[in-house]
Amino acid sequence: MANENPSGGTGSAQGAHMVSNLRELSHEELADVLGELGAQAFRVKQVEEWLARPEVQSFDAMTNLPKALREALAERYSLSSVAIAATRVSKDGSRKYLVKCASDGTYVECVGLPSSGRLSVCVSTQAGCAMGCAFCATGRSGLSRSLTAREIVDQVGVVRADFGLRVSSVVFMGQGEPFANYDATLAALRILNAPGPKTIGARHLTVSTCGIIPRIRQFSKEPEQFTLAISLHSAVQATRNALMPAVRKYPLTRLHEALQDYAWRTHRRPTYEFAPIEGVNDTTPEVEALVDFCVGTLCHVNLIHLNELEGSPLKPSPAARVRAIQARLERAGVETTIREPRGQDIEAACGQLRQRLEGMGF
Ligand code: SAH
Ligand code: SF4
Repeated sequence: MANENPSGGTGSAQGAHMVSNLRELSHEELADVLGELGAQAFRVKQVEEWLARPEVQSFDAMTNLPKALREALAERYSLSSVAIAATRVSKDGSRKYLVKCASDGTYVECVGLPSSGRLSVCVSTQAGCAMGCAFCATGRSGLSRSLTAREIVDQVGVVRADFGLRVSSVVFMGQGEPFANYDATLAALRILNAPGPKTIGARHLTVSTCGIIPRIRQFSKEPEQFTLAISLHSAVQATRNALMPAVRKYPLTRLHEALQDYAWRTHRRPTYEFAPIEGVNDTTPEVEALVDFCVGTLCHVNLIHLNELEGSPLKPSPAARVRAIQARLERAGVETTIREPRGQDIEAACGQLRQRLEGMGF
């Protein structure tokens, strides 16, 4: 049920991979461009104010600029580094977008999840992923390329514009491994967190990683209090190695130390993502290992529903087993949430963001 994006016609980046993005110009370059178009000097600041607002996706929205200048800019430049190519709407209200990067036509996916008038956005940090986790759809197709900070931030902009809602939180849980694209991820976090009317508090910006320890340590030392989530999925080394082969070089004992250090430095509680998989990580020894990993530390466990992959032997644990895992963790004093799956009918849920371009039936 892919449908045309309602705002696609107005997005200036449509089919715009030949056109450069005005948002990527430096102050000096922007001043030169406006000077060449005959605009007065004070227009530079006006344009910059518009460009700082990611929801501004068309030159027409820049209402204090003369129409001729808006048209001249629109002819020469795009505004966003990404444009919505297709949208799927879930019956629960969430929307999954296929977005196209203006620079080279790369596709990635992002999701908008509204709840009581507020909007949470899930963004991709890479097109594809090199990590190859056994349970994850993104990992199946390998890595195409990392995204730029602007491409990450502009996903928030297009989703915000499509919903017309205030964005209250952003999770970096779409395609890709954020810590394999650390600099762009950090830059994107900082743009989203920059003071202004659309600022998003650091605590409402969450980065999820498969556990790249040197980057977790680096992240712990950043001055902002961004939220960290870890794809844990097993606290038994052999099981985790099988499920997440790319991070076998970052063993659980060292991961545990790095997370303790994160909690100690930031006073923030890391979230552990754990998708119970029948007969794999939901057995008694597995659950006891998880309890040992968590107990006495600052953390919050999110039990997430495993989205099944076509042709995969990995199946989600039955609901009763998931509740029993939660009960066991809580008895040990470990705060645990069973996360309600959303957007399942549009494959927008975690781990299902995958490039499937044939016929845009993504
Ligand atoms: N690469 C990062 C962020 C993207 S994955 C990471 O691994 O953390 C975002 C979330 O989706 C992670 O918590 C990941 O463990 C989870 N995920 C991946 N495949 C899934 C699946 N099939 N079902 C449920 N969650 C999945
Ligand atoms: Fe990559 Fe995260 Fe998927 Fe693993 S779970 S393959 S790290 S996107």
